[in-house]
Amino acid sequence: MADIRIGIAGAAGRMGATLIREVSATAGCRLVAACERSGHPAVGRDVGDLAGLGPLGVAVSDSAEGIFRSAEVVIDFTAPDATAVHAGFAARHGVALVVGTTGLAANHDAALADAAHKVAIVRAANFSIGVNLLLTLSERIASTLGPDYDVEIVEMHHRHKKDAPSGTALAIGEAVAEGRKIALATAAVRGRDGITGERPPGSIGFASLRGGDVVGDHTVVFATEGERLELTHRASHRRVFAKGAVRAAIWAKGRPPGLYSMRDVVALTGGV
Ligand code: NAD
Repeated sequence: MADIRIGIAGAAGRMGATLIREVSATAGCRLVAACERSGHPAVGRDVGDLAGLGPLGVAVSDSAEGIFRSAEVVIDFTAPDATAVHAGFAARHGVALVVGTTGLAANHDAALADAAHKVAIVRAANFSIGVNLLLTLSERIASTLGPDYDVEIVEMHHRHKKDAPSGTALAIGEAVAEGRKIALATAAVRGRDGITGERPPGSIGFASLRGGDVVGDHTVVFATEGERLELTHRASHRRVFAKGAVRAAIWAKGRPPGLYSMRDVVALTGGV
């Protein structure tokens, strides 16, 4: 079978370089195109040189639309506005899209939902298998324990991260809300400061720590009087996200249009 032709948006980013190495190392995949925002110093450089692999014969382009002309699946870990534009290109050129970008607002979500009428889009706040299992477990535990157990979600990331709480923390919050059959927006408390008053019953709290080079730590705490249950996931290398994203890209090729999650890719929906 012919190799799957993969394009990478945001090739010079922390995840971009990790993805270049992962796609290159995956049998059955071929990196055919990559882009960066125009004016970025990496434009024109060989992707292999960027990722420390030596030349691969693919230059970083500043035309995002160009990569959708040659790839069958594009993996996008960039920034929300860029991802929304890329979703439009995916729909126009019939190219499946794997989206890792976090911090998306309603207008960006709408752009993805729109494009998903035409092509398969796999979107995940976190592509690691461990975190997706954590989401499934969090939903199940929240449903079993009920609202008498206070839920707090704590995350820590490196000092360069731009959004808070992390997309993964919000995804854990969504999973807990699903388990309780409520909407996260009605329960979320995103940070506390000053005289906050007592904890509102049933709320789902978030706390964000930033520092150093932490790749991504998440803990969900279920606390009631007399006991506390904590689940923790720690990512120590970005490779886990890249591996999951490449797995999603292989899964997405030829898939009917729709908005899919990593839990669909690894079939983690349903009972654990
Ligand atoms: P980064 O800032 O190192 O990389 C982002 C890259 O995208 C930069 O090189 C930037 O120049 C490029 N970019 C911006 N606009 C662009 C455009 N219009 N066209 C092409 N390239 C463009 O950030 P990062 O740490 O690699 O993270 C990127 C995103 O992925 C963030 O939103 C982050 O939260 C998210 N992330 C998700 C996961 C996951 O598993 N879903 C894991 C890690 C990071």
